Amino acid sequence: MGNILVKMEKKYEEMLDKAYLNIPKEALEHSRFEIPKVDSNIQGKKTFVKGITGIIKEMRRDKKHFFKYLTKETATSVTESGQNIIINGKFGAIQLNKIVENYFKQFVICPECGKPDTKIITQQGTKQMKCEACGAISPVKGI
Ligand SMILES: [Zn+2]
Repeated sequence: MGNILVKMEKKYEEMLDKAYLNIPKEALEHSRFEIPKVDSNIQGKKTFVKGITGIIKEMRRDKKHFFKYLTKETATSVTESGQNIIINGKFGAIQLNKIVENYFKQFVICPECGKPDTKIITQQGTKQMKCEACGAISPVKGI
């Protein structure tokens, strides 16, 4: 009796596998990657951003490159302080999230499949973004 049950369970698992494979591509894309949000607060003339190292980890990009981008976008100085960063000047969360979002869109997210599983490769002296999820190679500028 127990044996039959195991067999049935196996069959059910196979059915699930098949069902998963048959899901149209569009439906799978609903599990889209969500760009992390910054946790920031303004104190005096400075903006403190908490847990930025976690966001950088998700980007899988050079921290220095992100800092450079942030410095350019905010047109001010950015100081690292442990897990956090301190931006000279007052910046709201909406503004900072927009910068992070733009960074992800420009340097991290695969334009083909929308996944963040990319890395920067050099092909014939040109930097390209290679997606580990779908294999697409896309041009990337300024990295
Ligand atoms: Zn991709």
